[in-house]
Amino acid sequence: MQNIQEFIDLGLSEKSIEAIKAKGFETPTEIQRRCIPVLLSGHGDLIGQAQTGTGKTAAFALPILEMIDGIPAGERPSGPMALVLVPTRELCIQVCDEIQSLALGRKIRTSAIYGGASYNIQFRDLKAGVDVVVGTPGRIQDHIERETLLLNNIKVCVLDEADEMLDMGFIEDIENILSKMPQERQLLCFSATMPDPILKLAANFMTDFELIRVQTQDMTSTLTKQIFYELYEEDKFEALRRTIDIAPDFYGLVFCKTKLQCDEIGSRLISSGYNAEVLHGDLSQTQRELIVHKMREHRISILVATDVAARGIDIPELTHVINYSLPDEPESYIHRVGRTGRAGKEGLAVTFVTPREFRKFSFIRKIAKSEIEKKRIPTVNDIIEKKKRILLDDLLAMVEEAEKGNCPQSMFSLAKLLCETHHTTNIIAALLNDKYNRLVDLSGYREIRDLFDRDSSDRPRTERRLRPAFRLRADRKASKEPRAPREPRAPRAKGKRKANVSRFK
Ligand code: ADP
Ligand code: MG
Repeated sequence: MQNIQEFIDLGLSEKSIEAIKAKGFETPTEIQRRCIPVLLSGHGDLIGQAQTGTGKTAAFALPILEMIDGIPAGERPSGPMALVLVPTRELCIQVCDEIQSLALGRKIRTSAIYGGASYNIQFRDLKAGVDVVVGTPGRIQDHIERETLLLNNIKVCVLDEADEMLDMGFIEDIENILSKMPQERQLLCFSATMPDPILKLAANFMTDFELIRVQTQDMTSTLTKQIFYELYEEDKFEALRRTIDIAPDFYGLVFCKTKLQCDEIGSRLISSGYNAEVLHGDLSQTQRELIVHKMREHRISILVATDVAARGIDIPELTHVINYSLPDEPESYIHRVGRTGRAGKEGLAVTFVTPREFRKFSFIRKIAKSEIEKKRIPTVNDIIEKKKRILLDDLLAMVEEAEKGNCPQSMFSLAKLLCETHHTTNIIAALLNDKYNRLVDLSGYREIRDLFDRDSSDRPRTERRLRPAFRLRADRKASKEPRAPREPRAPRAKGKRKANVSRFK
């Protein structure tokens, strides 16, 4: 039984409640609880900040739909009354779908206008009249220039993933698009992070705005366990393999710095037999849509992506987020890690940190206010042991089924025949070897140099390991303790490597 009284209390209409029921939402999230009444009551500007996956789309979409629904169909202008700007095509489709599903049972026309898609369909949609446009800035600009999109009836404009939208890449487009709207338009900015400079920038476009921030204690989900491995760049791929192999239900995102790196890691994973795909801006729109779709359907379990391509994309129940490369901005870390540990499911965020990146990493830790624990990279032995345990559980379950009689009689006869001439242990071992020897095959793995016990500069010492780095820096300042010298570079010569898994043959 759904308890949606809380949604009703926010002041939403019956139609909205029907749509919410159909979507299966039971209670509003904190950002929805705080934004919806404000947006329903007035026309002020607003900045809403809440962690990824907390339903920010519905927080702005529901009041927008109510606003439009309040105007009788005959009196609505033919041009859109609401414009939602998003950074990527995938997000454009996703947000448009979410709004459409929330508009259930209402005659509200929505359209996704993004680059890479056919102009003809967009011309047709815009000409036919649309109430809500969700678009990427470039294509929206295009339509404005062609005069196929008029913004003079816009009442509400939303910048979704606002920090990204107001960043260098988009700011000119945004300025230009905003200038085409009536003065009294309402501007709403939503994002998981809002660094101060971006906040100031947003304020420039707003009159009296309300700031609604939903902060979890640490900026990332408490259901996400955050760990890091210290390792050399050359060992990252092996560490990635092991991180995946030790988690039998791995379903995660691997974040890389560049498209090139995504391609490289993606193809290495695929050629090693992993069910992976790559997502970045150079792929065609159809390819990208297909990949996100496949991931959502669990037809692939690993998505290698850049920050921008994965921004805001809703893939529920991810078990892992791997930061193969450290993000440039602490905010990106929060966005990335926010992708897992959602909907009551525990998640694991693993960050790969090279010795030289420690200072940058400390800064990220400080801003993200997260406790990120140093862990040892799983050894091959750990992986084999884990796989053996799982295999054993599966086998025992199979034996139980057979004992219940859920096994063809002919198999029992065959088993009896074998047992008359051979020892049971030998029979089972032969069967296991034939079917499962891949599980205990060590040949695919290679050595990793273990940096777990090393003391890096700008990193808490052993006894302070879990303290945030900024405290440490403050401590150091107070006691005038000199900074530890920088770590020497990683040795290049292969022969000098100190292996942690010397038993590999
Ligand atoms: P955000 O923009 O904050 O990252 P989204 O708007 O993409 O989050 O929503 C993430 C998912 O949560 C979507 O699938 C959405 O339908 C769902 N969702 C939104 N609000 C609720 C709610 N109140 N209860 C349950 N699920 C919700
Ligand atoms: Mg969003």
